[in-house]
Amino acid sequence: MLRIIRTSRLNSQASALLQAQGERDQLLDANQKLTSSLETERQHAQDLKASCKQLGEQFERQKAAYTRACDERVQEARQQAEELQARAVTVPEPEPEELLYRYKNQVLTDVTITLRTKKVELAYGPRVELTLILRCAGCDFTRTDASLCVADDPESRQNFLADDAYGGAVKGDAQRHAERCRAVPLDSEPPA
Ligand SMILES: [Zn+2]
Repeated sequence: MLRIIRTSRLNSQASALLQAQGERDQLLDANQKLTSSLETERQHAQDLKASCKQLGEQFERQKAAYTRACDERVQEARQQAEELQARAVTVPEPEPEELLYRYKNQVLTDVTITLRTKKVELAYGPRVELTLILRCAGCDFTRTDASLCVADDPESRQNFLADDAYGGAVKGDAQRHAERCRAVPLDSEPPA
């Protein structure tokens, strides 16, 4: 039996089919684009991951190098400090001595007074310790006394030397020793 289909209905079905085909093509196209951009994103993510890893490795390398350099510097500084300390222990600061007065004993041997100056650090600042040393070259008499800590300036030193309890006392002792002593050094030349 023959079915009769009206042309108008055929036409509308054909047009619907065409529209559906068009939509399918659009969907396929969109799908293609999505797939392609997904691939791009995946690639991008992989690149990022790779450069992250590279940066991480670079950071670790730099950190190791920096740590090594720091360790070396610390070691070097410690060594320098030890050397300085050793030097400070083995080489004490020289204490200058200065000949101030010379007397002659009964047989013209020297009786001298020298001043020893030593720098000292006190809680209230730097000072000098002045010490007078009386020596007789004839009888080997030596006396180290009259020591005082004063400010490091010429006036304080002058006062120390003029003071009856310090410089004055030592000068008096030197004078008296010279007047009494008749000793000559053992290694001196006998008179011709
Ligand atoms: Zn003497």
